[in-house]
Amino acid sequence: MATINQNFNKLAGGYLFPEIARRANAYQNENPQKVLYRLGIGNTTEALTPSVIKAMAQKVEDLSKRETYSGYGDEQGDKALREAISDFYKKREISLAADEIFISDGAKSDAANIQSLFATDNIVAIQNPAYPVYVDTNVVSGRSSDYDQKKNQYSKFVYLSGTKENNFFSPPPKEKVDLIYLCSPNNPTGAVATKEQLQQYVDYAKKQRAIIIFDAAYSEYISDADLPKSIYEIPGAYECAIEINSFSKFAGFTGVRVGWSVVPKKTVVENSVEGELNRHWFRRQVTFFNGASNISQAGALAVLSDEGLAEAKELIGYYMENARIIREALETLNLVVFGGDNAPYLWVETPNNLDSWQFFDQLLNQCQVIATPGVGFGSEGQNYVRFSAFGHRENILAAVKSIKENLVI
Ligand code: PLP
Repeated sequence: MATINQNFNKLAGGYLFPEIARRANAYQNENPQKVLYRLGIGNTTEALTPSVIKAMAQKVEDLSKRETYSGYGDEQGDKALREAISDFYKKREISLAADEIFISDGAKSDAANIQSLFATDNIVAIQNPAYPVYVDTNVVSGRSSDYDQKKNQYSKFVYLSGTKENNFFSPPPKEKVDLIYLCSPNNPTGAVATKEQLQQYVDYAKKQRAIIIFDAAYSEYISDADLPKSIYEIPGAYECAIEINSFSKFAGFTGVRVGWSVVPKKTVVENSVEGELNRHWFRRQVTFFNGASNISQAGALAVLSDEGLAEAKELIGYYMENARIIREALETLNLVVFGGDNAPYLWVETPNNLDSWQFFDQLLNQCQVIATPGVGFGSEGQNYVRFSAFGHRENILAAVKSIKENLVI
């Protein structure tokens, strides 16, 4: 007799983006002549850069001939790409061997799957607010209690509250936890952890034999030279941290799909020896995954060339100029804005103590602008909305014009 994984029934929410779409559609149906401006979604909008296109076109050409055709590649990713990522880290004085790097089809898969390395009775600490994948995958895997509707939380998880008082980056928990998910630059707050803040987590993790799962999907948006782009810039991190990253926001690969994870051989937990986590992750990928597309990996390799990196920097500069434009407009209206200077997200406090859905509705009804209600990322988002800097410049300019002209606070 087959039985269902009941943990799926524990999942709360999942209704954020469908509910945004429902409200936007309802508004559009009632106001068919109005144009809606979407500043809510974290999806890239600008074209892939020339060196990426060239490399992928070449790979397609190679695939078109028997002599240069290739089928399955290594499950852990093409060696040339893993070596290029290793060199990329080396420029930051981070030493990682190519077999400590695993190519994936994006950071979401890795952020979701990495928990399978750890026992189901591990206590999980998650930032609040956070990218929902960390919570939901640990619920499905059986590490949560039931969902507490009133608190908008699962009581078995330890929540690391990001508030304006702590610059949206909580210190390590007082209690003992085993798996700690950190995202910096953070989605949704746009906050970036300092070296000192990350050092506190590394010290905590080493003391408690805990693991940090560090999601650095937005690392290339950091322009402040003092802020760490990788957890491995922090002394001691090799022993206690796994890092996840992606070409999605780095180089517009949201649809192309390439990411990577780093599982250093030195990383250990309570009952493992050096190399064991790395070996198990390799085994996991070989068993559950057949590698990222070879065309996509050729594109990713091109991103890491000198030319590709310069182009990616320019692309990121474009989105960050969008962020600056949004911030300037919101501040003109005396809204309180966080993030957006080393991250493509702006975390905006709702005016007049509105909750995040009320302010969402106000922006939609008065300005035809769609933001993302902060509460969709956790209870600490109740009085915030997230604006995304991903978008065509002309749409961003039209959206901020509408906000400036129409928002009545
Ligand atoms: N991690 C964070 C924090 C994200 O915000 C996102 C996407 O929005 C991802 C991971 C997923 O990235 P990918 O496109 O590489 O799967």
